[in-house]
Amino acid sequence: MNPSSRRRFVLHAVATTGLLGAGHARVLAADLPKVEESDAQATALGYRHDTAMVDAKKYPKHSAEQRCGTCQLFQGKAGEDWGGCALFGGKLVAEKGWCTAWVKKA
Ligand code: SF4
Repeated sequence: MNPSSRRRFVLHAVATTGLLGAGHARVLAADLPKVEESDAQATALGYRHDTAMVDAKKYPKHSAEQRCGTCQLFQGKAGEDWGGCALFGGKLVAEKGWCTAWVKKA
């Protein structure tokens, strides 16, 4: 293999595996189950699918602008209703959800 064809081969391999990798990640995210509010970890963290439903008496520091979509730990992309969370491995949380571990996105 001469240097030119080797370079083409490497570029092709990088492009192909990169595309496959991105596609694979999308499939995995779409296949993840949504966390249930009744899950043990969700209950422990006071997780709700809708930040508007958070009990203000129980969580007085909660505010309406706090939601998963504005949380540092949210892994979903802009415009997506559900996304991963660093605390709920293998499950999706709602973009408009909330839990007591909320940390303002930097
Ligand atoms: Fe949502 Fe953040 Fe709690 Fe995860 S840590 S459930 S993204 S508020």
